[in-house]
Amino acid sequence: MKANMEYEKSAGAAGPLLRIRDLKVGFSGRNGMLLAVRGLNIELSKGEVLGIVGESGSGKSLGMLSSIGLQARNAEVSGSVVFDGQELVGKPRSEMRALRGSKIGMIFQDPLSSLNPVMTVGDQIREVLFLHNKGMSKAQATERVLELLRLVAIPQPDRRIRQYPHEFSGGMRQRVMIAMAIANNPALLVADEPTTALDVTVQAQIMLMLRELKEKLGLALVLITHDLGVVAGHADRVAVIYAGLIVEEAEVRELFANPRHPYTRGLIASIPKLSSSEDKLYSIPGAPPMLGAMPEGCAFHPRCSFAQDICRKSAPPTLEFGRHRAACHFAESLPPWNETAAVAKGAAHG
Ligand code: SF4
Repeated sequence: MKANMEYEKSAGAAGPLLRIRDLKVGFSGRNGMLLAVRGLNIELSKGEVLGIVGESGSGKSLGMLSSIGLQARNAEVSGSVVFDGQELVGKPRSEMRALRGSKIGMIFQDPLSSLNPVMTVGDQIREVLFLHNKGMSKAQATERVLELLRLVAIPQPDRRIRQYPHEFSGGMRQRVMIAMAIANNPALLVADEPTTALDVTVQAQIMLMLRELKEKLGLALVLITHDLGVVAGHADRVAVIYAGLIVEEAEVRELFANPRHPYTRGLIASIPKLSSSEDKLYSIPGAPPMLGAMPEGCAFHPRCSFAQDICRKSAPPTLEFGRHRAACHFAESLPPWNETAAVAKGAAHG
């Protein structure tokens, strides 16, 4: 184990596709700058699936979306985001728009409000193609739309291409959104809570399809979710975010087998289990801190039953255990993880 303030994951020979360094996102308030994202460090290689997990308000979506230029107009972004060799922080909005929709695809939570209700599905996908391929003919675009609809497993694409979003189910609409996101062969796909609005069976189908597309197209995928259960079977690596910082990051199997941060332990214990005999689901006590009311020391200390005096006074360093890192003063000395006992006693007790 070593203390790691300058985390460097060994990347492939060609380097990572995406490298985020010390990304901060803040908003000016009466009392100065309030940081909602306090220094993200993320690396993602080609073909890799990274799950970014945290509760609502943790900064996971804000951080990731700001890294690709989708921050609110009043947000201030600093740090470095290098994608495919280009620095994105400070790039003009027009250049970022050109990059999104071509090399970077986005999938949002609610497909119904993301699709235009008065345009056919075919026209909406064609529009994405024309925007980034100036010389493309209508016939070529239609051919590509049909190919994309087949790729996302929409039955009868010849008929569906002429239909409107309201004629599609929620799952089929999300497939259309995915078709739009991959229309121009992106290298990176960012999916922000892509299955939250869907029922469990459709959720599983969409996740499986994203995984298959990643394999087929060689995409790197960032999966932003509040639900650790969603990433369990689909991500290669998981970064857990709390109060605008990554508090733990590891390969997915390692994270579930040996969580080293009490917050991660709480999230794992909160996943509903079929085998559970408890009437009530476990949830982490308390709520994430409000912007402008960040606790001193470790931001998780008001909710953490492991907290000691040092946690209230000093922010924990990020400790590294091979490719597993955790920002907790006691990441090395927490009791071994025992989920059953954790749920019975309160997850933060491990
Ligand atoms: Fe809990 Fe302290 Fe670790 Fe923070 S540093 S997670 S308060 S034990």
